Amino acid sequence: MNLLTCSLVTFGLALAAGCGSEASGTTGAAATAAPAAGEGPARPTPPGAGPTIQWFGQSAFLVTTPKGTRVLMDPVPAELGYLLPPPVACHVVTISHEHFDHTNVAMAAGTPEILRGLTKDKAGWETIDKKIGDVHIRTVGTYHDDKKGAERGLNAVFVLEFDGWRIAHLGDLGHLLTPDQIAAIGAVDVLLVPVGGAFTIDAAGATKVVDQLRPRTTIIPMHYKTDRLKKDLPLAPVDGYVAGKANVRHLDGTELKVVPRPSGAPPEIVIMNYL
Ligand SMILES: [Zn+2]
Repeated sequence: MNLLTCSLVTFGLALAAGCGSEASGTTGAAATAAPAAGEGPARPTPPGAGPTIQWFGQSAFLVTTPKGTRVLMDPVPAELGYLLPPPVACHVVTISHEHFDHTNVAMAAGTPEILRGLTKDKAGWETIDKKIGDVHIRTVGTYHDDKKGAERGLNAVFVLEFDGWRIAHLGDLGHLLTPDQIAAIGAVDVLLVPVGGAFTIDAAGATKVVDQLRPRTTIIPMHYKTDRLKKDLPLAPVDGYVAGKANVRHLDGTELKVVPRPSGAPPEIVIMNYL
């Protein structure tokens, strides 16, 4: 694929010319210094509308900031069974770890920057801390299991910050977070959290991790069994995670427009739809 492909993708991409390039400049985006998440947000409520988030199944999301920067996260391969869109125009692709269900960079159109959370030999974490468009992207090292990576290796949490919003994509997190990891992630507005178990934290683990991070606005479960998932992966459906929880919303379409919650309102759990 090339820049021409990038500009041809039918997503009304205002920033197509910048596809794959790194923009510079600063905005009023949240700084990296953040209070410990469990202590409640000391930050002002993000101003106005937040990002648009589209799910493609498993852990693959396209996050589009209000200013139009497009971040494709953990792109999914067609072999899992989800219907994939035409190549997705985006400025950057993030990859939490190198397992096949998170690394289909061919999902992206053009030549976006590819940010891999792990080093080439997968034995360490890359230190990612950079700005692309209006998004500050950084990573926090974690593990794919609860044995410090002995079973399934390392995993990187990707944190996106823009316009006062903070999104955390937990990748294939396999354990509860340490205080250092919670502090490094910071106070989260939108949390993308695996819930399907077997390879990641399960419903109970995800519930605990959500309690650790206390996202302010939205919780989006991912990496669970759906009727589309063809590959024989022993994932649990999302039901176990949402059972007994309040503020659950099933999205009709595939795109969620995130808006601030009313003051004092608990976060919503949004069950995304897929193509
Ligand atoms: Zn996975």
